[in-house]
Amino acid sequence: MTTLFPRDFDCPNCGTRFESYVTGSTNNLGGVTTDFREIAGGSQPDRGFIHTCDNCGFTGGSDAFEGSVDEKVSRLIAERITPLVRDERSSASRRFEYAAWIAKWRGLDSEVIGSLYLRAAWAWGDEPEVENAEGQDYLRRQAIEHFERAVEDNSVTGEHAQTIKYLIGEQYRRVGEPETAALWYDRVVAEAGHDPEQRRLADLALQQKTRPEEFLR
Ligand SMILES: [Zn+2]
Repeated sequence: MTTLFPRDFDCPNCGTRFESYVTGSTNNLGGVTTDFREIAGGSQPDRGFIHTCDNCGFTGGSDAFEGSVDEKVSRLIAERITPLVRDERSSASRRFEYAAWIAKWRGLDSEVIGSLYLRAAWAWGDEPEVENAEGQDYLRRQAIEHFERAVEDNSVTGEHAQTIKYLIGEQYRRVGEPETAALWYDRVVAEAGHDPEQRRLADLALQQKTRPEEFLR
C-alpha cells in the first residue's frame, strides 16, 4: 500500500509555511512499464514526491525547499505560476510540469528538466478530476526535446546516456512515431558495450523495436 503523510514546508520563495503530503512507502505491485515507471497497487505515490506552495506556486521535490531562489526565477514564478495555483488545486502531473519550468529557469541540466517532464507525463491522468491544460503527448514531447538536448551536448555519459537514449525511443514510440523510435533503439543496440547491464538494455531496445510491450516482464 502507498502511504502519504502530511508535512510542513517553508517556501524558499515567499516564506509561506504550507502543508503537503510526503510519500512514506509505496510498492510496484502494478508492474513496471517499459519506460521504467513503477506502478503501485492502489493509489500512485507521485503526489507525495512533488510539493507546491499554496501561496506563490514554487514547486519541487523535498530537497528543492532547502536553499534560496534568485530574483530572476522568483519574478518568473510570480508571472507564470502564481496565477495558475491561485485558481486550481494542482495535480501531480501539473506540479511536475511547474518543477520542470523552474528547473529550466534555474539553468539546470537538460536531463534533469527532461526527467521532470517524463514524470509529469507518467502522472498525467492519475487524478482525472483535475483538468490538465496540456495532454500527455505534449509532456512526452517536452521530455524528448530535453533528453535529446542532453545527448547532443554530451552532458550525460556512459551507461546513463544509453538509458536516456532508450527513453527517447520509448517516448517517440508512445507518441505514435515508431520510425523515429527505431532510430533511437538502433543507437542503443549499436552503442552497447559488453557490460551485462548495457546488453540487457540493448535486448530490451530490440524487443521494443520489433515486438513492443507496455510492461517489463
Ligand atoms: Zn511560496
